[in-house]
Amino acid sequence: MKFNLIKTDGNARACLLETNRGLIHTPVFMAVGTVGTVKAMSPDELKEIGAEIILCNTYHLYLRPGHEIISSLGGIHKFMNWDRPILTDSGGFQVFSLSALRKIEEDGVHFKSHLDGSMHFIGPKEAMEIQSLLGSDIAMVLDDCTPYPSTYEYAMNSLYRTIKWAAQCKALQGKEQALFGIVQGSLYEDLREKSIEELVDIGFDGFAAGGLSVGEPKKEMHRMIHFTASLLPTDKPRYLMGIGELGDVLNAVEAGFDMFDCVMPTRNARNGTLFTSRGKISIKREEFKSDRGPLDPDCECYTCRNYSRGYLRHIFLSKEILSMRLNTIHNLYFYFNFFRNMRKSIIEGIFTEFKTKWEAIL
Ligand SMILES: [Zn+2]
Repeated sequence: MKFNLIKTDGNARACLLETNRGLIHTPVFMAVGTVGTVKAMSPDELKEIGAEIILCNTYHLYLRPGHEIISSLGGIHKFMNWDRPILTDSGGFQVFSLSALRKIEEDGVHFKSHLDGSMHFIGPKEAMEIQSLLGSDIAMVLDDCTPYPSTYEYAMNSLYRTIKWAAQCKALQGKEQALFGIVQGSLYEDLREKSIEELVDIGFDGFAAGGLSVGEPKKEMHRMIHFTASLLPTDKPRYLMGIGELGDVLNAVEAGFDMFDCVMPTRNARNGTLFTSRGKISIKREEFKSDRGPLDPDCECYTCRNYSRGYLRHIFLSKEILSMRLNTIHNLYFYFNFFRNMRKSIIEGIFTEFKTKWEAIL
């Protein structure tokens, strides 16, 4: 993967990542395809609205159908018919957030499947082996996700485990796959700094910040986002994991982050919460019953070009499958368009205006 820094505006960056499966213009939003599908969307629809890279969850694919089956069916791209870049997480985060029972040891983590209660083990070797068989373009190191709040001592021990695992993952990196390191350290600046120093020493194709948006106050999260970004190498992509609320994205782009993922646009779409250029709306509200206008008059997506709010409300309340599809098309289009315009504002040197304008709307 080749990294090009195109333009900076303050600390905000517009970059271009060149991969064997296509270009990625940053800041970029990665739609989440948890089990190998971005819910309710076909790959062609995703491409049409401008998706350049998607994220798949290793934990889910490992448990079902299993990485070996996916490999035998030609790898994750062929399996799901998506020929653009895919980033896989290491599975660590889901082990920590979904499995009922987990036991962290020095060499990895034992956990119980949330599907059938079976016991499993993932260490650095397993995380790399699974991601290698899936065949993603960007793999993530296995990290120990430090919960919030954590004592300094706990955060430090967890960080050292993450660093050790990162080095083990790096040693197993294949030629065809980029590998990102993950910065931990909870809300302790010296630990974050230490984490970055060690990861830079090991050497990665990109750097991600983990352990944020895990329950800490927003102000603390933003402080740590700025602090972390200020120490990361400038010649590698920077990925802020799991954060996709647009107000937070604006802050993180201002700090210098390039890549984002979040289930928010897709999950909200299925729940009838839609993003518009005038703020969020809930499509089920009575006021939209006989509204003939589009969801968002400023949006050019398929949904907004063809359907009224009255219709979208009706099919949402009727629990029609098409409702999830049309809402998802709109919300993802809105996100991709937001990111495209944000990138444009950086290139034109007016990111601050862009940020101020959107902060008044969001
Ligand atoms: Zn739309």
